[in-house]
Amino acid sequence: MKFQTIIEPFRIKTVEPIRQTTPEERRIAIEKAHNNVFLLKARDVLIDLLTDSGTGAMSVYQWAGMMKGDESYAGARSFDVFEKSVRDITGFTHVIPTHQGRAAEHILFHSLVKPGDIVPNNTHFDTTRANVEDAGGIALDLPIKEGTHAQSTHPFKGNMDVMALEETLERHGDRVPVVMMTVTNNSEGGQPVSLENIREVSEICKRYEVPFFIDACRFAENAWLMKTRDASLANRSARSIAQEMFSLADGCTMSAKKDGLANIGGFLAMNSGPLALKCRTRLVLTEGFPTYGGLAGYDLEAIAVGLNEALDEDYLHYRIRSIEYLGEKLLLAGVPIVTPMGGHALYLDAKRMLPHIPQREFPAWALSLVLYVEGGIRAAEIGSVMFGRRPDGSEKPADLELVRLAFPRRVYTQSHVDYVAEVVIHVNSMASRIRGVKIVEAPPVLRHFTAHMAPAHGRLLA
Ligand SMILES: *Cc1c(COP(=O)(O)O)cnc(C)c1O
Repeated sequence: MKFQTIIEPFRIKTVEPIRQTTPEERRIAIEKAHNNVFLLKARDVLIDLLTDSGTGAMSVYQWAGMMKGDESYAGARSFDVFEKSVRDITGFTHVIPTHQGRAAEHILFHSLVKPGDIVPNNTHFDTTRANVEDAGGIALDLPIKEGTHAQSTHPFKGNMDVMALEETLERHGDRVPVVMMTVTNNSEGGQPVSLENIREVSEICKRYEVPFFIDACRFAENAWLMKTRDASLANRSARSIAQEMFSLADGCTMSAKKDGLANIGGFLAMNSGPLALKCRTRLVLTEGFPTYGGLAGYDLEAIAVGLNEALDEDYLHYRIRSIEYLGEKLLLAGVPIVTPMGGHALYLDAKRMLPHIPQREFPAWALSLVLYVEGGIRAAEIGSVMFGRRPDGSEKPADLELVRLAFPRRVYTQSHVDYVAEVVIHVNSMASRIRGVKIVEAPPVLRHFTAHMAPAHGRLLA
């Protein structure tokens, strides 16, 4: 390549204004929101990095597809378009649309899991874990040990511990109805899984005759990270790598709000006819008729196009590079982050940035508040507010105190990323002034969404 600059591989046809606010306005807004960024009005946020789920920008081809949506109750043409697109990429025989990823999980686990069963996964995403447990199963995380170390530079930190998997199957094989693999490994920081690791897991599952399913939410980002971090795949297309990944499994669950580049949707796909019959029977009960499954015809069209656009290599290059670019700027300025950078988000390490704030005063939460007040940036705490409460009600600090900057797809440009870097570097420079926070009131489960918080020492900044 003659030129170094990586450009956004699109031009902008429709714009959505974002609103500048002053730090004083934001101080009032966050107080009104009980010091919880989830309770802010989106119009008071300048750069919204709360999640990459359902927040992407659709292309002209997706919008054009939506105009063609066939809203027939049964046998809609849009279903055929959707089914073909999913089959071309995954190769799975049966394609079942759902309204989002967790609906696919709910249907799969309620069709497969009996009380007392064990479902191994590299790391369960929170809705995946909740749905396994709701079906009476035990959600077993088997990450490699490098996966849980913020500082490890392993290129495939998302991998599953295959020895631990084999041991589980050897000991409890009759209680394991399915093995899952999450790509990329969201709960471990969007870290990729290697193709080699998927091959090994697939081989073990075949040997023990256990179905192997992929939680495919970020399959395209994972394929790109495989291509760029595994020299043996450098000359393959992201598409062919993704196809091989799916060929090693018996089925998948998918949230189209991620690498489907859609604002809503998901699916379940598999090769087994008898299992598909069971799943469709449940689908009719909870989602809808099998050719729309909880979605409008136009949603099916948008996803059909989005799945293919997510595999476009100019797009993937820009996508992964934007996050690396931000990470490199922050590392250069000495900001502590999780490395290597993952696929969809960058994680600030609040334990290292704010060593003076004890974990019982939620350093990552405090950091999320300061990022908002100083720069209008909204990002999610992944720390002890989210994970620090035991089922018996006692507190146990989380392993890591992180703030996740998750990037919506095709939404922000390089100048937005430059602005984010400037704000984070500024906040890092005032780290010693940042004080801890306390919980005022919070529900017992998923408390981060609605908790009311307050500065632990009167003010957020010393
Ligand atoms: C988002 C996500 C899900 C759930 O999908 P929804 O569309 O939010 O219901 C499941 N697994 C992983 C890894 C995810 O990132």
